[in-house]
Amino acid sequence: MRSFNFSAGPATLPTEVITQVQQELPDWRGTGMSVMELSHRSPEFAGILIETELDLRELLAIPEHYRVVFCQEGASAHWDMIPLNLLQGNTRADYIETGYWSYRAIEEGRRYCNVNIAASNRVDQFCAIPDQSEWRLDPKAAYVHYCSNETIDGLEFFWVPDVGKVPLVVDMSSHFLSRPMDISKFGLVYAGAQKNIGPAGLSLAIIRDDLLKPSAPGTPFLMDYHSQVHAHSMLNTPPTFTIWVAGLVFKWIKRQGGLAAMEQINIEKSRLLYDFLDSSGFYRSQVKHQDRSRMNVPFHLREPSLDEVFLKEADAHGLHQLRGHRVVGGMRASIYNAMSLAGVKALISFMADFERRYG
Ligand SMILES: *Cc1c(COP(=O)(O)O)cnc(C)c1O
Repeated sequence: MRSFNFSAGPATLPTEVITQVQQELPDWRGTGMSVMELSHRSPEFAGILIETELDLRELLAIPEHYRVVFCQEGASAHWDMIPLNLLQGNTRADYIETGYWSYRAIEEGRRYCNVNIAASNRVDQFCAIPDQSEWRLDPKAAYVHYCSNETIDGLEFFWVPDVGKVPLVVDMSSHFLSRPMDISKFGLVYAGAQKNIGPAGLSLAIIRDDLLKPSAPGTPFLMDYHSQVHAHSMLNTPPTFTIWVAGLVFKWIKRQGGLAAMEQINIEKSRLLYDFLDSSGFYRSQVKHQDRSRMNVPFHLREPSLDEVFLKEADAHGLHQLRGHRVVGGMRASIYNAMSLAGVKALISFMADFERRYG
């Protein structure tokens, strides 16, 4: 029986990449050493790092005046790094609240500045993205922060906010590389690896040149983007193994045809699943249609007393990690780049059968 992992993160990786890791792990390109054992200062690892960055730049068509940094910390660390590096003496920043992860960034941002929540969908229970005409942006804010894919609530921005001259900062963790994005619209993009690009232990940031200034006094040295860029992400030992695997994932995406091809597959997978949910009276998805994430699909059984049976039977069918996040309950199917169409079809066919038996 085939098995599929619908975890939100750490999440499924392409089988091809897992096999390649297994094959290349004992002896990296004839060096007699595992990639895990290479010094981060060695020419071999320097080559891996450069290639990884170049592949990323190619995939996203990152303009030349943007720098890429690879960090040890998770995406969460950027909630501190962003104010520490971008406030530059300003005391105000705008944040858009659209769900769990954007709220966590807000809470952290409040340690450093006056957070203006320029828009929020809390009253709508995080089911729809507030229209930009309702946003109350502060033209004097140091930056505007938002999360372009809410991993837990299942909302995705299919448009880029227009914030004028204020730098736009985005948490792209859970849909990074799922489709093309115009990087030139952002001041700073960050993402944790373990959702869509690799194992846990790595995050990366793409930062526009003019925003790279010395950080606030007292900033821990590892949290200074400016020095990280200067040191080519080697202020200390970078997560070498994770960077290598992320690089293999980038090459896998290139072999699939790049981000435009990834997007087509992701549209197809998510459409199948949402169409099924909408056609069923047994399951429901509460996110507004136009804002539904292609990566994270939360849904509920109309009869929550069946939740545990559903999860148990799904596991027995090789469909794993479908339990929704504790803050929203129900189920969640994360269908990142590495989830195959076959996986989504297997899920739908199980769900249809479950509905026939219990509906
Ligand atoms: C998972 C996630 C985070 C937190 O990532 P860590 O690597 O655990 O710090 C932040 N933002 C989004 C959108 C996420 O999905």
